Amino acid sequence: MLGMRSPSAEGVEEAAVSRPRIVIVGAGFAGYHAARTLCRLARNNAEIVVVNPTDYFLYLPLLPEVAVGLLDPRRVTVSLPATLPDVRLILGEVDRVDLDAREVAYVDPEGGRDQITYDRLVLTVGSVNKLLPVPGVAEHAHGFRGIPEALYLRDHMTRQMELADASDESDERAARTTFVVVGAGYTGTEVAAHGVLYTDILYKRHPRLAERQPRWLLLDVADRVLPELDERLSRTAASVLNERGVEVRTGTSVREATEAGARLSDGDFVGTRSLIWCVGVRPDPLVADLGLRIEQGRLAVDAYLTVPNRPEVYACGDAAAVPDLTRPGEITPMTAQHAVRQGRRAAHNIAASYGQGRPKPYRHKDLGFVVDLGGTEAAANPLSIPLGGLPAKALTRGYHLLSLPGNRLRTGTDWLLDTLLSRQTVQLGLVRSPAVPLDTDSPELPTPAGRR
Ligand SMILES: Cc1cc2nc3c(=O)[nH]c(=O)nc-3n(C[C@H](O)[C@H](O)[C@H](O)COP(=O)(O)OP(=O)(O)OC[C@H]3O[C@@H](n4cnc5c(N)ncnc54)[C@H](O)[C@@H]3O)c2cc1C
Repeated sequence: MLGMRSPSAEGVEEAAVSRPRIVIVGAGFAGYHAARTLCRLARNNAEIVVVNPTDYFLYLPLLPEVAVGLLDPRRVTVSLPATLPDVRLILGEVDRVDLDAREVAYVDPEGGRDQITYDRLVLTVGSVNKLLPVPGVAEHAHGFRGIPEALYLRDHMTRQMELADASDESDERAARTTFVVVGAGYTGTEVAAHGVLYTDILYKRHPRLAERQPRWLLLDVADRVLPELDERLSRTAASVLNERGVEVRTGTSVREATEAGARLSDGDFVGTRSLIWCVGVRPDPLVADLGLRIEQGRLAVDAYLTVPNRPEVYACGDAAAVPDLTRPGEITPMTAQHAVRQGRRAAHNIAASYGQGRPKPYRHKDLGFVVDLGGTEAAANPLSIPLGGLPAKALTRGYHLLSLPGNRLRTGTDWLLDTLLSRQTVQLGLVRSPAVPLDTDSPELPTPAGRR
């Protein structure tokens, strides 16, 4: 039964606590749902600790809507203290795991260091931007992974249109009204699809721009948009982008980025001040430093989500290479759908490790995918049935509302207000460019599997 403490984890600090301690590192999709399930299963019998740099769970799929001012940023953040009151939240970033001592060390938001021991450890640190070693990209491109990037992009797009309006110089006006998204996975595709609608709103509010209709380019080395998804979704998305005038350039990437623009792999130079980097992700670097087996950059685990030879260590979500039992020989893709279910399964298996229930392997067959394309458009394939237009839009919004662990009414209200009122298009200036640097330490090339 949960409540027995493992002898190896005893110490001065633990003497005060008779319950086992389960430490979850990372409160994203996998970590949040692991913690929530553990609260239900073991609230009274175990101490549940979450270590996360922020006090919220971030609902990443709606981030493009924050970047275009459709959703207030707080809608996509779900408070950890408010929704997981039985969890002990430690604000911090783990930078060392001592597997033998069963201890994780972290840096808190004010730079202080501390550590905490565990009886069970769940590693759910997710992924980070993946970069190509392309000259100039680190200096001139911006990624898209969190609230700061979304707020930066919203201000940036607004600012570019306003500065273009104020300028009398033709080249400058052209560059400022040109937006280049690199990577046509679901993040890049959604950013371009929503972004073009947003800059169209700005364009209408700046009649001086007259001949300078905003120009959007979406680049990918693959031969279609959404290359990792069902081809029917790609076709729907491509046709919506095409109708909105987005130039989709497949088989194309960026060779060099400069202050003035981007040199593309086909030799074209595109003058722009806006290079939005969505080429892919790689697992959080923490997992590579553990000295454990890595598979495709992710921490290898078995189907029970435990690390080989470390039965007290669990890992899931983007950071873990979880065997996909529905596709033998493959690992599960990096999606929220898998991360949520893996988090819940890890929680059940942890409870089972203390005799509460039986451990089960993780098995989940993809239920389909939803891609919100802004306006009344979306592409979805629930249970492999391809949908576009309003039915897909309704499904997409319904899915997100159900999946959001909080803020549903507020999110629904933002959507409703956006259909009734004109969009607010001011710069708030809360996030400056240096606050959202692109991480540059990855020499790896992006793969379709990692593309977002
Ligand atoms: C813009 C965007 C849009 C997306 N849209 C979709 C979509 O529509 N559908 C879909 O299925 N998937 C989507 N995804 C992918 C999906 O969000 C991920 O697959 C999912 O978030 C993975 O969950 P996770 O728990 O593994 O990681 P995350 O949700 O990324 O959570 C990781 C958590 O760990 C924390 N963390 C990281 N390092 C440390 C550390 N050292 N110490 C402590 N905490 C740490 C992070 O701050 C974060 O809170 C999208 C991703 C992005 C970036």
